Amino acid sequence: ALHEVPDVSVPRNVRVNTLKLDVDSALVELRKDYSVQKDDLLPDLLILPPGTDLHDHPLVKNGSIFLQVLDACAAPGNKTVHLAALMKRKGRIIACELKKERIKRLNDTIKLSGASNIQVLNEDFLNINPKDPSYSKVKAILLDPSCSGSGTAASRLDHLLPSKVAGQDIDMERLNKLAAFQRKALQHAFNFPALERVVYSTCSINQIENEDVVKSVLPIAESHGFQLAKPFPEWQCRGLPVFEGSENLVRTDPAKHGEGFFIALFAKKDANLSVRS
Ligand code: SAM
Repeated sequence: ALHEVPDVSVPRNVRVNTLKLDVDSALVELRKDYSVQKDDLLPDLLILPPGTDLHDHPLVKNGSIFLQVLDACAAPGNKTVHLAALMKRKGRIIACELKKERIKRLNDTIKLSGASNIQVLNEDFLNINPKDPSYSKVKAILLDPSCSGSGTAASRLDHLLPSKVAGQDIDMERLNKLAAFQRKALQHAFNFPALERVVYSTCSINQIENEDVVKSVLPIAESHGFQLAKPFPEWQCRGLPVFEGSENLVRTDPAKHGEGFFIALFAKKDANLSVRS
């Protein structure tokens, strides 16, 4: 199926890196040049006019704000440093990355963010032994694995090229491979003994990488005492209705929101949660 062409009238979203700057100061600074609004849902998100290019803005260059949404898959470490900001310098973050050539970029992002509680690990997540004592205090896992990227504007434009239509079989094979890895990685996450929360996210709009992955791991999640929680309950766009409980899942619709993302939050039942949303 053809996907929506990205709408150039979609506003530019910017997350303030609250490790370096509070949201109100960022507003004052940005309002010197742009009309800026705060997001209703997310306290550290600002909304700027469509087409705003902030790449050379001093706040971006010094790491005070991180651009999100449009470049979500292109900048490794963005969510790592977002976590660091949410954790307010408390605790520790282990950032695991398989590909050696992406480690430098990850380190650069971390350095720029000002966070000092992130440990970078060049390792295959599937090879990490959850029973190793160094992971005995891991309470939350963010799993944002390699995906097709089919929710991103660049990828959807790519799919519209005639040369890509003939390649649909290859795409199915690729999707199946990605989904198999996503399932394995998500299953692996539940083996960490002190775990209370798992976030699974993609920038894909494909059911096979999203609802199907979540559905297939639910029995394993439940056997470890986890259930799907409902983040952003007031958000209307939920998971596709392909299994009972899929209304707990969060989607963004490229046609409405500019980009297609997916989030599932697994939380331990009746745990005295020490990680807050
Ligand atoms: N969360 C990142 C961000 O917001 O900037 C984007 C992550 S990107 C979608 C997925 C990353 O997972 C890629 O850098 C890829 O190299 C890495 N990866 C793939 N397989 C992996 C594995 N088995 N173990 C660890 N990292 C892996």
